[in-house]
Amino acid sequence: MYHHGNKVIDEHRQGEALMLTHEGKKKLYIESYGCQMNFSDSEIVASILSKEGYATTKNPEEADLVLLNTCSIREKAEQTVRNRLSHFHAIKKQNPDVKIGILGCMAERIKEKLLEEEKLVDIVVGPDAYRDLPNLIKEAEDGRKAVNVLLSKEETYGDVNPVRLGGNGVTAFISIMRGCDNMCTFCVVPFTRGRERSRNPQSIIDEAKMLQDAGYKEITLLGQNVDSYLWYGGGLKKDFAKASEIAKASAVRFAQLLRSVAEAVPGMRIRFSTSNPQDMTEDVLHTIAAYDNICKYIHLPVQSGSSRILKAMNRGHNREQYIELVDKIRKIIPDCGLSHDMITGFPGETEEDHQDTLSLMEYVKYDFGYMFKYSERPGTYAARHFKDDVPDEVKTRRLTEIIDLQQKHSLYRNQQHIGKIEEVLIEGISKRSNEHWFGRNTQNTVVVFPKENAKPGDLVKVKILECTSATLLGQIVH
Ligand code: SAM
Repeated sequence: MYHHGNKVIDEHRQGEALMLTHEGKKKLYIESYGCQMNFSDSEIVASILSKEGYATTKNPEEADLVLLNTCSIREKAEQTVRNRLSHFHAIKKQNPDVKIGILGCMAERIKEKLLEEEKLVDIVVGPDAYRDLPNLIKEAEDGRKAVNVLLSKEETYGDVNPVRLGGNGVTAFISIMRGCDNMCTFCVVPFTRGRERSRNPQSIIDEAKMLQDAGYKEITLLGQNVDSYLWYGGGLKKDFAKASEIAKASAVRFAQLLRSVAEAVPGMRIRFSTSNPQDMTEDVLHTIAAYDNICKYIHLPVQSGSSRILKAMNRGHNREQYIELVDKIRKIIPDCGLSHDMITGFPGETEEDHQDTLSLMEYVKYDFGYMFKYSERPGTYAARHFKDDVPDEVKTRRLTEIIDLQQKHSLYRNQQHIGKIEEVLIEGISKRSNEHWFGRNTQNTVVVFPKENAKPGDLVKVKILECTSATLLGQIVH
């Protein structure tokens, strides 16, 4: 796996313990795995539990409650959580009263069977049942195992004001929708996160304003498929056809939401993730182009460059349509940064399909990408109908080839920035040195430069002087 930028799966943050600063009577230790949505959900969980008197801790040994917010997207993600769980045996031995809960996609996928498989676990809670956590914890405290994996038609946690955990005070996520209706044949998300539903736009705008008042400078609107956002008074997207004429006529779609947010918090940068190619409309592109505070960057997963494989994946677009969309983006937003997700070794993928993937990458020359070996997920259409027939060594070789090509393209794209003066939002201290800040330009590329008198949260102008395939290096100009 390869990572850069505004990561879908941020390898550096996997398993990160999130912490709230205020003191409480009981102590919660919460670790998050997987996508940005999970990190955002943990903030919702912390908010729900703070009302129950829980303060967070970074030390699991002093916790009364240990929660792991889990990911099921690939087998490896689940294995990571299982390995991590075994570490908590010692903690439970030391403190038999500590309760251990599994939240998120793994909880939803495996359900109560998790209690049999992992004897250590007391509580299993799916992504739509976090409001029930206080009851479930009480049940566990009474000595019963507690499970709630009900999926919901309405739950968006729209009224829960997330507690910002472990962040930098500069950038924050706002969930705008939950679930996914795409039914990509490889993907477990529709089963673990339920059907697609959108959050009231007013609550999204209110959250953005609150973040601005708290000093945040950038927000990322989050959803599995943000371009499919549809608010018509609440309820599942698939039930829109049954809505009243008035509800239909006043429905809010993504372009409109993006515009409203951009206008509500003019001083803030706005990003969004993830876009699904078949749902991305031209008015979204014009909106991005029209507003200075909407970042010129689109994460546009493609998964494969072969139309035959895209069809088997049920992606809703073929290679030509994807290329057409990329051309349109380049025309409407000339400097737009583009990144991708790619899966290598999907069932039936031939050498020719793989070459199609490489040639598509060659055409787009993405700024960065996230690349994965296909991992069969139980219950998905692909698992039920296709044989996972690409040998692991072939998957690995193809993955290496696409990673190498991506690295070449990242370097090429980064070189195009050299000599330019770019606006960078400072997020914190660079990993490479205490004397340098790191931030991102509008395209989401990381920029590193000497600190001077600037500070995190400042939007500074940086002249780009050098680069690697991962980072731009520069100097503040006044
Ligand atoms: N909603 C986005 C989409 O549809 O493109 C992202 C969903 S997923 C959380 C992030 C990425 O994980 C996907 O884009 C895909 O590349 C990868 N992924 C999903 N299922 C996978 C599987 N079974 N094996 C390998 N990679 C997978």
